Amino acid sequence: MSRPTSIHVNLERLCENFRCARRLHGGSLLAVVKANAYGHGAVTCARALAPQAEGFAVATLEEGAELRAAGITQPVVLLEGIFSAADLEQVRHQALTAVLHQPWQVQLQLEQEVSPVGGFWLKFDSGMHRLGLNESDLRRAVDQLRRKFPGVAVTVMTHFAHADGVHPGVLDPALTLFRQATQGLSVQTSLANSGAILGYPEARGDWGRPGLMLYGLDPAAPGQPVRAGLRPVMSLRSRIMVERWVKTGDSVGYGGLFQARRPSRIGVIPCGYADGYPRTAPQGTWVGAGEDFVPLAGRVSMDMLTVDLTDAPRVTVGTEVELWGDQVSISTLAHCCGTLAYELVCRAQRAVRCTEG
Ligand SMILES: *Cc1c(COP(=O)(O)O)cnc(C)c1O
Repeated sequence: MSRPTSIHVNLERLCENFRCARRLHGGSLLAVVKANAYGHGAVTCARALAPQAEGFAVATLEEGAELRAAGITQPVVLLEGIFSAADLEQVRHQALTAVLHQPWQVQLQLEQEVSPVGGFWLKFDSGMHRLGLNESDLRRAVDQLRRKFPGVAVTVMTHFAHADGVHPGVLDPALTLFRQATQGLSVQTSLANSGAILGYPEARGDWGRPGLMLYGLDPAAPGQPVRAGLRPVMSLRSRIMVERWVKTGDSVGYGGLFQARRPSRIGVIPCGYADGYPRTAPQGTWVGAGEDFVPLAGRVSMDMLTVDLTDAPRVTVGTEVELWGDQVSISTLAHCCGTLAYELVCRAQRAVRCTEG
């Protein structure tokens, strides 16, 4: 048996989740596949979604180039934009669409003779105060681009600072700012990420930008029911590789964090923080094992972790375990570890092999 730890990616569910985003948002959708499709494999996911998605969104030039090399022909929007004039060459060469979020980027576009393939995507800052133009720079940019490149589509987007909650009222001021800033401009609009698609129907535009929800994860606080029937695409699985009995008082793993209060049967799983499983997982965190759940016992190490099998006699060497997926919600796990599902999925797959289907 080779090391049995792997990430499974269910592409059928990915496509179902996409249809769910479509049902809720309508219009056109950019499938967000940055960060290697949140750890799910950008090329695989983009190919699976290509028959449905009007476009894709990535963070970096390299990610965009990877999609082009894989034969993706839809518009690919670079959400982080360009860093230099030299980047613009690459953007053009790869037929990508860089979001313009700084006045110098608009200026650089105005100095070009040809317009980008997907038209212009301008970003308005509706309160995140990270990237984006203010209202007067936005209006000036739309005006200048229109004059220099008549007939080329202009899309104005914004990204909400409070889109991951289920308290949509917090988005009202941002939406009002966006409406003011774009009022009277004949542009296409793009507002909603997953949080807004799921929980804020007021913020619909011509283009939705679902990310997390495509992977079946709900950005709402853990404990809230998962909305819209989303189902997780990724699971991290392994098998029990070794089991052993320890005596009362024996400790397990680094630092002796787990101390047996009774004779205990301990299982070793070849999966650790190098595989993406969080080292901060508290003692007692559930691991799915067949029909049972077994609690983490001892500190998570680099490529192994240990669980207490004493109360789960059916679980033994060779039993398949699920670190996260259907049985163990990644959002709940992330919450217990002081982080978000976003971070856990993005970190996964670095060290594990991936199987699809
Ligand atoms: C990442 C990102 C998205 C997708 O966000 P989710 O919360 O994963 O749906 C949408 N728009 C922008 C600008 C982003 O950076």
